[in-house]
Amino acid sequence: MHTIPFNQFALTGNEINYIQQALHSEMISGDGQFSLRCQALLEQQLQAKKVLLTSSGTAALEMAAILANIKPGDEVIMPSYTFVSTANAFVARGATCIFVDIRPDTQNINEQLIEQAINAKTVAIVPVHYAGISCAMDTILELATKYNLLVIEDAAHGLYATYKGQALGTIGDIGCFSFHETKNYSCGEGGAIVINNTKFSERAEIIREKGTDRSKFFRGEVDKYTWQDIGSSYLMSDLQAAFLLANLEKAEIINTQRCAIWNHYYQELEGLQAIELPYIPENCEHNGHLFYIKTPSTRLRKQLIDFLKAKKIHTVFHYLPLHDTPMGYKHGRFIGSDKETLRTSEQLLRLPLFYSLSIESAHYVTEAIHAFFTHDDSAS
Ligand SMILES: *Cc1c(COP(=O)(O)O)cnc(C)c1O
Repeated sequence: MHTIPFNQFALTGNEINYIQQALHSEMISGDGQFSLRCQALLEQQLQAKKVLLTSSGTAALEMAAILANIKPGDEVIMPSYTFVSTANAFVARGATCIFVDIRPDTQNINEQLIEQAINAKTVAIVPVHYAGISCAMDTILELATKYNLLVIEDAAHGLYATYKGQALGTIGDIGCFSFHETKNYSCGEGGAIVINNTKFSERAEIIREKGTDRSKFFRGEVDKYTWQDIGSSYLMSDLQAAFLLANLEKAEIINTQRCAIWNHYYQELEGLQAIELPYIPENCEHNGHLFYIKTPSTRLRKQLIDFLKAKKIHTVFHYLPLHDTPMGYKHGRFIGSDKETLRTSEQLLRLPLFYSLSIESAHYVTEAIHAFFTHDDSAS
């Protein structure tokens, strides 16, 4: 068996063709024809009111923090078990991160622990849909209504996954996606912001265009564009959008293959008593973004990683709890006790999962894991 990498970005066949078309077009900067096609396709697929491509998922979160009018002293509730950008976007505008423990079954923010973290300074809740499996959005939306808070979904893992039939990223006031190469659909670096609360629509365009009303100018609604607000250059190049469109147009094929690998892993590992497997709550349809197991200890995880590496299988773990970092101490606070965040951080292991991974290779991975836990190294 050849080397099984942890990840490989998806190529569906049309990427070069679309990039070539972009090269022969009039513009390759932001909001060219491929950007507009990606946005229209996403709006249609997700049933979303407004989707704007961004230079990254991080940029989409930064735009969300500006739209939420975050100012020093504000508090934003989120899990500590997440990527740094979830927190950084808000801290960069002066907010304090209020970290809440995760659920041991989904690794998502524990919705039962959110209310005790809310006070007069709270502005927003940022649910992160870990592994493309939805947070308990009904409870989160109820709390947001009760305390007049914004909900900003970090749906970086969650494109095309659903909660009660509704696409992740379209449920809160704002949703953020990533097209980084580690995500299901990519263009190297990229992202998108979904504006569900229409009161943010106009300002979102301005913030994304360096604080100007250039988008209106492009549409012929004003005869010159000027400086209106703060902002930055949050657009995606049309060259990248050309690549992205090729990925998005094959979304169903990519999603089907990823879920087939996910299901294979689940079925083959279900019988292993030593490990914990992902849990999909009722009403959630996931997108095969990532498959993880939880090992009994950090020591065993290290041994398993080395064992698999010797068989040329590359696995990774992630998310060192944000509250336990230099920035976390300075700009964050953990509410309640950490019962699950650290444990997940120390025990979770991600298996290879990408579009071009064959079921045969996935089977080789599960055989190796069985061999490790049954101390039977005859499988090769
Ligand atoms: C990938 C990711 C991001 C950031 O996306 P980039 O496109 O890499 O900037 C944010 N949040 C989560 C949970 C992510 O996994």
